[in-house]
Amino acid sequence: MAQRKFVLDEKDLPTHWYNVQADLKQPLPPPLHPGTGQPLGPADLAPLFPMELIKQEVSRERWIEIPEPVREAYKVWRPTPLIRALSMEKALGTPARIYYKWEGASPSGSHKGNTAIAQAFYNKQEGTKRIATETGAGQWGSALAIAARMFDLECKVYMVRISYDQKPYRRILMETFGAQVVASPSRDTNAGRAALAKDPHSAGSLGLAISEAVEDAATREDTKYSLGSVLNHVLMHQTVIGLEARKQLELAGDAPDVLIGCVGGGSNFAGFTFPFVGDKLNGRSKARIIAVEPMAAPSVTKGEYTYDFGDEAMLTPLVKMHTLGHGFMPAPIHAGGLRYHGMAPAVSALADAKVIEAVAVHQRATFEAATLFARSEGWLPAPESAHAIRVAVDEALRCKESGQAKVIAFNLSGHGHFDLAAYEKHLAGGLEDFEYPADKVAAALKGLPKVGV
Ligand SMILES: *Cc1c(COP(=O)(O)O)cnc(C)c1O
Repeated sequence: MAQRKFVLDEKDLPTHWYNVQADLKQPLPPPLHPGTGQPLGPADLAPLFPMELIKQEVSRERWIEIPEPVREAYKVWRPTPLIRALSMEKALGTPARIYYKWEGASPSGSHKGNTAIAQAFYNKQEGTKRIATETGAGQWGSALAIAARMFDLECKVYMVRISYDQKPYRRILMETFGAQVVASPSRDTNAGRAALAKDPHSAGSLGLAISEAVEDAATREDTKYSLGSVLNHVLMHQTVIGLEARKQLELAGDAPDVLIGCVGGGSNFAGFTFPFVGDKLNGRSKARIIAVEPMAAPSVTKGEYTYDFGDEAMLTPLVKMHTLGHGFMPAPIHAGGLRYHGMAPAVSALADAKVIEAVAVHQRATFEAATLFARSEGWLPAPESAHAIRVAVDEALRCKESGQAKVIAFNLSGHGHFDLAAYEKHLAGGLEDFEYPADKVAAALKGLPKVGV
């Protein structure tokens, strides 16, 4: 019988993060100040982030050392296993060899702890007392609440109203770790009060919650802001996933032909694939690298590659990325972590340079793949992760037709234990597919800022 699970020792935990900026043929276009449209300097970001993270954001050094306290905290759940999907291969009748990296093994149940721990550490080191952040479905808020507790920081989470009402369990998890959670829009910020004045029953959005958390941090001396995706330093912290996976595939004696990850802001995809992207840019690999996004928010496959704001209230810096327009509000798909109008600048640049590819998939097809995966492999995937499974299954079925025994590896970014209401709907046949909203995207793209073009 073939080996199923590839595990590493604690001593094999990576000592450095991999910084893809070192290997990009062209430097990333600089972020611009939201008011002036001029390139940002470190001083502009200092009210929001600790200096070490600002340095990492623009660093072009290939390897950045992981501080010892961060490695110690990682050891609570890392290294995570790489698992050969032997049972799903059998269920599909494919000659392909399928592997998945299991990031749901973390305390919060997703990959997000990899950066939450690092961000909490640097904040603590530089004297921050309190961190403010936003959360959509609650995965990022949970990861940061746990990390803040580990490093003895206060944590305030602006949780998108609709999730706050519909998904109380994530809120309770955050509160258990001592975080203060409010529904966004809230009465605690100008951005929140303005949104409530316009619509007292606003369901909120991730973009608006970002505006609130940024305002909170910018207006308080003791507080910094923390973001769970999109930024270069966040993507870099996630590369522990791919660095481990690369070692584990070596143990398995396989080199990947296809690497797959789902993308919301791009962090788990980047974390899993960037070490392999580095190999590809340096001529050591020819693997296809595929980012999977939802049809309801298809920023890479249907958006424009241009400068846009990261949030709805236009408070964040302008970054060059694939965007559907900062005013675009994605349909309420159950993969809440993928409902974002933009994409990480590094992922966008690699897609633009055709180093990586992107595909968009529908909601029902992702839940079909998730159920097939759960029934064969035994793990219940997050709806976000199910996007990666869908494309892994499609690739494996193509191998079945062609008789090719490709090596397919995907990142299983988290578990779906807080998403059972969505599974219940799927089982009852009640899930909707949302067509690509061409007219809404066209309208939102009209609102793009006229800078840097
Ligand atoms: C947040 C989240 C995502 C999407 O965010 P990325 O930054 O694109 O990785 C995907 N999967 C899970 C389980 C998440 O919690």
